[in-house]
Amino acid sequence: MNSMKNRFPHMPDRISGLAELAYNLWWSWHPAARMLFKRLDRQAWKESVHNPIRMLRELPVKILESAATDSVYLHHYDVVLAIFRKEMEANGGWFSENVGDPDHSPIAYFSAEYGLHHSLPFYAGGLGFLAGDHLKACSDTGIPLVAVGFMYPEGYLRQLIRPDGWQENVDQSIDRDVAPITRFLNEDGEQLVVKVPYFFEPQAYVAVWKVVVGRVPLYLLDTDIEINDPSIREISAHLYAGDTEERLRQEIILGIGGSQVLKTVGIRQAAHHINEGHPAFILLERIRERVQQGMPYDEAAQEVHDTTLFTTHTPVRAGHDVFPFDLMEKYFARYYPLLGLNRDRFFQLGVHSEEPDAGFNMTAFALRMSAYHNGVSKKHGEVARRMWQSLWPDLSEKEVPIDSITNGVHVPTWMDPKIQLLFNKYCSPYWVLGDYDDPIVWKLIDDIPDQELWEVHYWLKMKLVNFVRDRARQRWVEDRVDPVSVVAGGTLLDPMALTIGFARRFVTYKRADLIFHDLDRLKKLVNNRWRPLQIIFAGKAHPEDDPAKRILQRVFNFAHDPELGGRIAFVENYGEQLAQYMTHGVDVWLNTPLPPMEASGTSGMKASLNGVPNLSVLDGWWIEGFNGKNGWAFGGEGEADRDSEDSEAIYSLLEEEVIPLYYKMDSNGVPLEWVRVMKEAMKSIGPLFNARRMVKEYAKKFYANALKGGREK
Ligand SMILES: *Cc1c(COP(=O)(O)O)cnc(C)c1O
Repeated sequence: MNSMKNRFPHMPDRISGLAELAYNLWWSWHPAARMLFKRLDRQAWKESVHNPIRMLRELPVKILESAATDSVYLHHYDVVLAIFRKEMEANGGWFSENVGDPDHSPIAYFSAEYGLHHSLPFYAGGLGFLAGDHLKACSDTGIPLVAVGFMYPEGYLRQLIRPDGWQENVDQSIDRDVAPITRFLNEDGEQLVVKVPYFFEPQAYVAVWKVVVGRVPLYLLDTDIEINDPSIREISAHLYAGDTEERLRQEIILGIGGSQVLKTVGIRQAAHHINEGHPAFILLERIRERVQQGMPYDEAAQEVHDTTLFTTHTPVRAGHDVFPFDLMEKYFARYYPLLGLNRDRFFQLGVHSEEPDAGFNMTAFALRMSAYHNGVSKKHGEVARRMWQSLWPDLSEKEVPIDSITNGVHVPTWMDPKIQLLFNKYCSPYWVLGDYDDPIVWKLIDDIPDQELWEVHYWLKMKLVNFVRDRARQRWVEDRVDPVSVVAGGTLLDPMALTIGFARRFVTYKRADLIFHDLDRLKKLVNNRWRPLQIIFAGKAHPEDDPAKRILQRVFNFAHDPELGGRIAFVENYGEQLAQYMTHGVDVWLNTPLPPMEASGTSGMKASLNGVPNLSVLDGWWIEGFNGKNGWAFGGEGEADRDSEDSEAIYSLLEEEVIPLYYKMDSNGVPLEWVRVMKEAMKSIGPLFNARRMVKEYAKKFYANALKGGREK
């Protein structure tokens, strides 16, 4: 604690808890804690892009001193700090009351990406936010968990789009001194550096950083330190960067290095949760340790197997890492003998029997090496069982032991504070912090007056439109982009018009350009003078994914087309902050992936919490979420020309249902029937598709068993 305060030498003692709070992301999902920073100086808060560490460092002493003597501020401070301290100290919570001893050795959660806050750009998309929301919900419920990941000094990518619509990646380095991360210190007060043995010549080392997520610590590995050879320093530079070999090197660092780090910081995890295949090499390290102590390989592998849960996240083949055997040999030749395995037996661990020569498949490996496996929606469970059946040749598809736990989002993070206030007023005070997976509470949404909900929604929409326009203005002023790009960036957006949002990673199967399939039909909708439609797009393509960049370029060019009247906007550099504005402020959330490729999807859940109904393909979570009254659904699997059929369905839904319903307003300008759909979306989706329900399911179905080391059922 003292070390925290030392970072802000000018902080008055009376409010020194702000330092500790700034370094615990707990503040980010508690609006009252956020306000504590914001009300110090709204301007500075905005300029810091909501990063309390940067703000506290730069704030003049006199502002802090005056806060420390302002009785109103101090009252607010004392209340927040009391709640914070109570939650941090408590061993209690749902886990200890329902599952087990919270002092139990923890579950170690491994993931290549985490989406926690926009000040930490360590994510590419949904997988990262799922992991981030998982940690927050484990903190809320008291599930004993520690997490391991990467500190990517250059993040994922900063997107800048050329005038011709081609995505460029601009380098952006994070400033380690103002990010909400701290150096994990050794006994000498220096940053801990851990050796990653066996694989690299010259030797590789990782520096250890820590992010505090409520009660959950997240340890981040960083290879960009002086002691390392330049080729090693590069390894953690970017998320998912480079070629196959660089990927393999990253995954070795994450799995093997991550295991060394946990050991060095003194954590004795009882079980593992592997989030997607990337970190799965951790399991080898666990086996090696046992073999080294004299246990036979089979027994060691069985022990590790019985204490491991693996979550698979995608039906897309290219989403599963496969490393050629000669590459594996290059890195593992000195390692597999330590496991007591020969080359052949080692390679067999990663063979996918449907393509045995392709190489070492990380998903096949992780599935073999773990007792518990799950997909991330009911549908994805089915798809995964079909996809991986060949690993269990004696079982029928139905019997393949891949279960499913449908994803959920962290409600306090993704529900706008203004909507939370409405809930507090009409449903139950402070419910968001406690009972947000209780359906009873959500039923009370009907008590919120229609007009009030609509006014809050309209306010959020204005906020989105202003934010988008402001970004376009900045690009004009600072980068002197041409005026057409200023229009394409969203300056002509109209807050009165029915607004569709589409924002996610650009990958071909997500079909971002589907709505342009019949351009004439779309033009009629957007150019309707009395009932116009507008669409806001955002999203990044992976730097190596040219087909996705071409789709992005196509969408971007439509935004420039005068015949679409400035009603199509493309907003650059999609990230957590823009996701918040968009999922809170548009009227309809559009999702058009090609089934069955979307394992779950989560942005549509974020939208629903804020009263933004989905217009989505029946795939992933929406198959479970759609109830006929809480949004719109179309499409499905089949041999047909899916693009034609699905776009046709979207136009018809828009023309016949969505647009008429939205524009049918009462004399106060409130679209009463539309508000009914908004409420239905919140009521039906909130209690089910949230991270609290999700982590409880993980805890009951898997963690409880894995902690005991026992087999399922
Ligand atoms: C939630 C979220 C995602 C995931 O969205 P999907 O629709 O599930 O693909 C991606 N990026 C950001 C910034 C998000 O907040």
